[in-house]
Amino acid sequence: MALIVQKYGGTSVGSVERIQAVAARVLQTVKAGNDLVVVVSAMGKTTDGLVKLANAISTNPNRREMDMLLSTGEQVSIALLSMALQELGQPAISLTGAQVGIVTETEHTRARILKIDPDRIQRHLNAGQVVVVAGFQGIASTDDLEITTLGRGGSDTSAVALAAALQADLCEIYTDVPGILTADPRIVEDAQLMSEITSDEMLELASLGAKVLHPRAVEIARNYGITLVVRSSWADDPGTRVLSSTPQPRPLEGLEIARPVDAVEFDTDQAKVALLRVPDRPGVAARLFGELAQQQLDVDLIIQSIHEGNTNDIAFTVTKNTLNQAEAVAAAILPALSAGLESNLNPAETLVDREIAKVTIAGAGMIGRPGVAAQMFTTLAAAGINIQMISTSEVKVSCVVAATDYDRAIATLCETFEVTSSPRNEPGTMDPGDQATGSPPSAPLPPVRGVALDLNQAKLAIREIPDRPGMAARIFQLLARENISVDMIIQSQRCRVIQGATTRDIAFTVAQADADAARKALEKAAPELGYGQVEVDPEIAKVSIVGMGMIENPGIAARMFEALSLQQINIQMIATSEIKISCVVSQDEGVTALRTIHAAFNLAGQERIQVPA
Ligand code: ASP
Ligand code: MG
Repeated sequence: MALIVQKYGGTSVGSVERIQAVAARVLQTVKAGNDLVVVVSAMGKTTDGLVKLANAISTNPNRREMDMLLSTGEQVSIALLSMALQELGQPAISLTGAQVGIVTETEHTRARILKIDPDRIQRHLNAGQVVVVAGFQGIASTDDLEITTLGRGGSDTSAVALAAALQADLCEIYTDVPGILTADPRIVEDAQLMSEITSDEMLELASLGAKVLHPRAVEIARNYGITLVVRSSWADDPGTRVLSSTPQPRPLEGLEIARPVDAVEFDTDQAKVALLRVPDRPGVAARLFGELAQQQLDVDLIIQSIHEGNTNDIAFTVTKNTLNQAEAVAAAILPALSAGLESNLNPAETLVDREIAKVTIAGAGMIGRPGVAAQMFTTLAAAGINIQMISTSEVKVSCVVAATDYDRAIATLCETFEVTSSPRNEPGTMDPGDQATGSPPSAPLPPVRGVALDLNQAKLAIREIPDRPGMAARIFQLLARENISVDMIIQSQRCRVIQGATTRDIAFTVAQADADAARKALEKAAPELGYGQVEVDPEIAKVSIVGMGMIENPGIAARMFEALSLQQINIQMIATSEIKISCVVSQDEGVTALRTIHAAFNLAGQERIQVPA
């Protein structure tokens, strides 16, 4: 007999008939011999309706009262579902967050779960009842029972947190789509259902998957090793399994860790190759990384920042023992790459550096939380460590530093973020098959699991930043103080010497809505910080590929760049993590870019997957 937590979203309980259908499905699972805890959202668009009511009365409603109001939606659906189960002859009881003892932070309207007392639920389960729990809500303390909510879409988080607290065997998320798809099916018509994905991949795909599954829920599942299944409420199809490897046991206190970073990773077996002043035109990255892939050279970080004039710099890292080969490849194709470049004043060149290391902070808690990258840069600056290159993804910030600095970098980062360090994940230990829930090892991990497009970002570039420790720190602190969340940060290789001092450029992306505020704040600080121009381009698109199987699998980046090159799409910026590659292209090419990349990795399926508008 298994203990299963099932969660049903708002659409799944949107009417009396649907609630009855959910009850029938719950009953089926009980009949199969399982203990069941069911978490439900508010019916249909109830929560939106409540928000509207509040806004009709106040432009800035009190957040405590907001929680009082919003938490009522789920109280309706749990009672109705419980009645529907009882009508079918199944003993059931509905419980609110307070009754279950879901204790959260005091942060009204966006509280994180601190702990859950499993005793009461366990008692009802032992009595043969199905326990129906209100999603999205908790209490700030067991004394005064102040009601809190977890933030919109928070019921997923309630369900997974309950699964962790109850040590459930499985957590099923029932929704109105059949599972997680390889791309947004409204843009890519032949997007296909994934049968499985790892939680790490899911987190990197946050911009694609967040509508289906709350990132905070994925984070809890990963931290406690809970297997999640995302599937349709309307069908019996198996849906998508979100797999996590068995983690170190961790206490249930501080369940949703408030910490933004949960690991400091490092890799000292890296060397850097940079190509300076190659032409800024389609096909250059494709050619370079295609050539490297042909030689079976595995590339780790790839960074291309903003262009200057008509040229770009592209830098990448490889393992130290392949540096000579990689350098030879780069040097050999450099003349071909730069053919047709007008000015010979500053010809293209390659540059290598063997004495580097990569240090990375990782954690799902940094999604949407301003200032985490800034804190990393500040920490390194305080230790006098210069950052040579920066590349970020959804849940990671990686910096390349001098090899001589790396042990100090690790020590100081571990101290700041209160975590222990580990070498970068080895692909061999990441096969979810042999670790998660004892299932047999699955087929080799696909290099690319899914692709995502983000059309809501703007690109900002800061030119001629003095190259000394502390500059990146001050710049991103400044933005964090304005409460601006920075998405992707890129610092590449290019250095310029101006009046005897070396300078670099940093480029990054923010939500379009924040671009103006970011520009203003940066321009205001320019005289003090001594950098040059601040440039903004809102007309960009970010396309990403994500897949665990790309680790130590040469040629994946090349295939992505090649696909873009065949469509004559120019790559403006590149940033990577171990399992993600993102390219910035111009906005009007975003959709084509996404489709062509999806096709290039053979992600298309035969079936048309229907999803609600
Ligand atoms: N009802 C809440 C909302 O709409 C929580 C949820 O459905 O996950 O945000
Ligand atoms: Mg939802």
